[in-house]
Amino acid sequence: MNREFGIVYNSKYSNVKNPPNHPLQGSRYLKSIEFFEEIGLLSMPNIKLIDPEPATTDEILLAHTKDHLELVKRLSEIGKGQFDHDTPAYKGIYEVALLTTGGSLTAMRSILRGDVECAMNLSGGFHHAKPDQARGYCIFNDVNILGTILLNSGIQRVLYVEIDAHFGDGTYHFYKESPKFFTLSFHESGESLYPYYDDHLFGEGEGYGYHVNVPLPIWTDDNAFLYAFRSIFLPVVSSFKPEFIIFQSGVDGHCRDWQSHLLLTKRVYQEVARFIRNVMDSNKTKLIVLGGGGYDPMAAALCWASMINELADLQLNLTGYDDECEKEPYENVNTMEKIEQIVDGLSPFLSPEKPSR
Ligand SMILES: [Zn+2]
Repeated sequence: MNREFGIVYNSKYSNVKNPPNHPLQGSRYLKSIEFFEEIGLLSMPNIKLIDPEPATTDEILLAHTKDHLELVKRLSEIGKGQFDHDTPAYKGIYEVALLTTGGSLTAMRSILRGDVECAMNLSGGFHHAKPDQARGYCIFNDVNILGTILLNSGIQRVLYVEIDAHFGDGTYHFYKESPKFFTLSFHESGESLYPYYDDHLFGEGEGYGYHVNVPLPIWTDDNAFLYAFRSIFLPVVSSFKPEFIIFQSGVDGHCRDWQSHLLLTKRVYQEVARFIRNVMDSNKTKLIVLGGGGYDPMAAALCWASMINELADLQLNLTGYDDECEKEPYENVNTMEKIEQIVDGLSPFLSPEKPSR
């Protein structure tokens, strides 16, 4: 099947002006696009480059307070200040944030209009931002805005699945009481990685049981990750029956990316994308993909290309491009055994009957 696949991107995504030692640099977007060009991805007939429209202030206010929006605008004008210890302001950050957030909304609209079957915002997936605060490199939470628009449009069941190395706490807390917006998060455990959250969060009130976290131990490798993904993603899909999937495809769990202690390679990203594509094909589920984390530009480019290759069914041969892993476990951990225990513990949450507390 030759599906139409949109890549939402504009060279202004690279206008990020964090200090040189900050992990998030605008170069990752440009490097990715250059790599896509090099491997022929952009010239495939079913790939469409889509220009992002900046988000409007009304759209931002769907998931944020007016005070937060005004603060971002003000610090952007003066060009200095900090939102939190690792989220600095710079001149123009407001415009960059509106454009990268708007890119996710552009991707959604192009799918809903039927221009493409599936679209990826090369930026977006800013899952740490809270309604009243920018945090963890995230200024506006595009996931929360997307979810609000989709649910307001009458869609009953949205599945948000993230494979970013970090737990999307800003999105979890926004939706924890909702049984219509399922959050499924595969991330490095809060014991060893930001945002250092309790790993056992399953939602609250009516939302209890509609939120599942899979806290991966340090040095989780491809086999252990794929075991967890396979064991949990498919049961969640068959019990929740999503109409729409938002996939936050952060690649900072890659074995070259020093933002995490995970050892994943392009194989994981390829296989995860294949699982998701199969769900789209068999259930006619709509899919939007958001970039998310990924701080080694070459690894990010390779992983995102591997995912698009599967999702758009391009059949490009990427065997000549290696992962060039750099991380070495400095501790011996039997990750597979730990992951089997985690998966067993989550089994009550994988059926349509939700467990009682
Ligand atoms: Zn991350």
